[in-house]
Amino acid sequence: MVGVKEGAFEVARDHIDTWTRTGCPYCGVGCGLLVGTRDNAIVKVRGDLQHPSSFGDLCPKAVHLNKVIQTPDRLAFPLLRLRRDAAFVRASWDSALFYLTTRFRAILDRHGPEAVAFYGSGQLLTEEYYVANKLMKGFLGANNFDTNSRLCMASAVTGYNISLGSDGPPLAYTDLDCADFFFIIGANTAHCYPIIHRRMMRRKQQHPDTVRVIVVDPRRTETAEIANLYVPIKPGTDIALLNAMLHVVIAEKLVDEAFVQQHTEGWGAVKTLVQRYSPAYAEAICEVPGALITAIARDFAHALGAISVWSMGINQSTEGVHKNNALINLHLATGQIGKPGAGPFSLTGQPNAMGGREVGGLSHLLPGYRSVTNPTHRAEIARIWGVPVDAIAARPGYTAVELFEALDTGTLKAVWILATNPAVSMPELDLVERALRKAELVVVQDAYHPTDTSAFADVLLPAAQWSEKEGTMTNSERRITYLPKILEPPGEALPDWQIFTRFAQAMGFGASFPYTTAEEVYEEFKQCTKGRRNDITGVSYARLKQGPLQWPCPSPDSPGTERLYTDKTFATLTGKAQFIETPYEGAREHPDASYPVILTTGRVKNHWHTMTRTGKVEIFNRRTPEPFVEINTEDAAYLDIQDADFVEVLSKRGKLIARAQVTEKIVRGTCFVPFHWGRRSGVFNAANNLTLKAYDPVSQQPELKFAAVTIKKVMVDLLT
Ligand code: SF4
Repeated sequence: MVGVKEGAFEVARDHIDTWTRTGCPYCGVGCGLLVGTRDNAIVKVRGDLQHPSSFGDLCPKAVHLNKVIQTPDRLAFPLLRLRRDAAFVRASWDSALFYLTTRFRAILDRHGPEAVAFYGSGQLLTEEYYVANKLMKGFLGANNFDTNSRLCMASAVTGYNISLGSDGPPLAYTDLDCADFFFIIGANTAHCYPIIHRRMMRRKQQHPDTVRVIVVDPRRTETAEIANLYVPIKPGTDIALLNAMLHVVIAEKLVDEAFVQQHTEGWGAVKTLVQRYSPAYAEAICEVPGALITAIARDFAHALGAISVWSMGINQSTEGVHKNNALINLHLATGQIGKPGAGPFSLTGQPNAMGGREVGGLSHLLPGYRSVTNPTHRAEIARIWGVPVDAIAARPGYTAVELFEALDTGTLKAVWILATNPAVSMPELDLVERALRKAELVVVQDAYHPTDTSAFADVLLPAAQWSEKEGTMTNSERRITYLPKILEPPGEALPDWQIFTRFAQAMGFGASFPYTTAEEVYEEFKQCTKGRRNDITGVSYARLKQGPLQWPCPSPDSPGTERLYTDKTFATLTGKAQFIETPYEGAREHPDASYPVILTTGRVKNHWHTMTRTGKVEIFNRRTPEPFVEINTEDAAYLDIQDADFVEVLSKRGKLIARAQVTEKIVRGTCFVPFHWGRRSGVFNAANNLTLKAYDPVSQQPELKFAAVTIKKVMVDLLT
């Protein structure tokens, strides 16, 4: 329902002409918002009581959205420069597209389709993802379309695929209202998913005697305040803990034998594997007392409904996929899946990372949860796109880290970056900057300029952003929300789907890119999901304007699907869920005498990703004005570091300088640095100066949560 006038009182108080329903553009919780506007400007944002994911709740990031849309650094016109050391000059869309088609054709002619790549973002709308993905994979001839979801959810995608047969979180937020055991591991829900957090907190407050919350994290974050038990764990050792919990479940005969027999495969091998993970064995690895491991495992198995909640602390790891599999193993062994209030629930960092997964927005995927390596899948999508089957390459394209490595080695010549800021968010920023400098052509399509990444561009394309374009997003519970166009974008900024449509037409593919509206794109994308796990053929803009829907929703009269796998039939070929062997191997980089401390990175409350938006909100900047280094009290004493001292953190890749925050809330031998700041704010402000590009061998998600570093105090006068 768009353009809802909500009463004279509101109009008088806030001088608001129109209230419009939409979704939040920040995190994957996907809250519903009411946006009050006047004279093409947002005056106020509040929660939408009717949105079934959030029921009117929202967090400060959404409240302050009015401050981040119409800002002086909006990119309003295409900008070009013929040399990197020259200033940008304004160009018309026609001349920018002419320049781009000329450069792309020359590179494709000289080096072939593997020489060009798109690098996107979970902030794109589903329609935008779809058009860019179709253009690259069906028409430019390579699968080089990857996104920053590779840094965020790739391990969860792969974990679900391997264990359950398909991507897609099985639960709904309503499950949070009936679970009696929350196992939160590797997620700071209080800061990063506040509305989910509040929902778990409410459940706990309403049933203090029966609902238990366990929080496992190397840092005692605000999330732990709702916990019955906070479990400090040595970073990177989650698999040892999870395998030991399964060991206890078996030893104490808490296995749901009927579920395992009827609905799973691979149990024997996993049972054998976890024999050696006694609580005592695991304690020596993860530093969680064995008695505690036993108690948590018992609670998990005995719960009427156990939900495990995780995000980047599990996914951003060289063992990220196995960590996902180990968690799902626990759910399968105890039958804690496919029933109300039970199951594995990965939380998504970005607002539409889920939509991106649905359209195949990673370099190994095709729309409708298909794979580029599967010939049947390629044939199905080729038919919808109207291209010969061999137009879609069988080889996965470059993943995020590979993409920047390929630019660095010169294999990849051109990159088109849209709605993301890899010069802050990628690991090993030296590599990223070197790669962008070496690239023959860098196109940056964004709402803002300058950013850390736009500094490397040859061409800047102005993108309309949230509230300035229409489209859809899917949140962490598979719920699709329609986002209307509320404001006019600045200058000549265009929706991303339109920019790619115009580029495709200029490249000569106009017959396959005839779109004049986002809805036309959506209608085509829907056909790609027919009969698939994420079937949305029953969803339409008209239905979504009445309210959000959860997929699968395979017919116009389907109400959508709250929870997956309720019939215990999984998406595998046999219909049975798969137990996966998950031996603990540990992080790729080990602390040693030179780099004895483990660095873990993450977010702070109210800043989001690379701060291109939240960095414009004064109150957020006042609260957290600069990066900091969280250090354990005993470590700080040993290093003669006091709270607020400046410290230098050094890894084999680079260094960071920031003030110390000395605290008992982080485990000994570990430090924490938020990753929001890039080098533009100060060359030694960037946490990703320190991180490493190592990644999970299957999901290729980089290890952003574990690097070996050394810390020393720096005298202030040396800095000035
Ligand atoms: Fe937006 Fe996430 Fe906050 Fe909800 S919890 S208002 S989706 S940032």
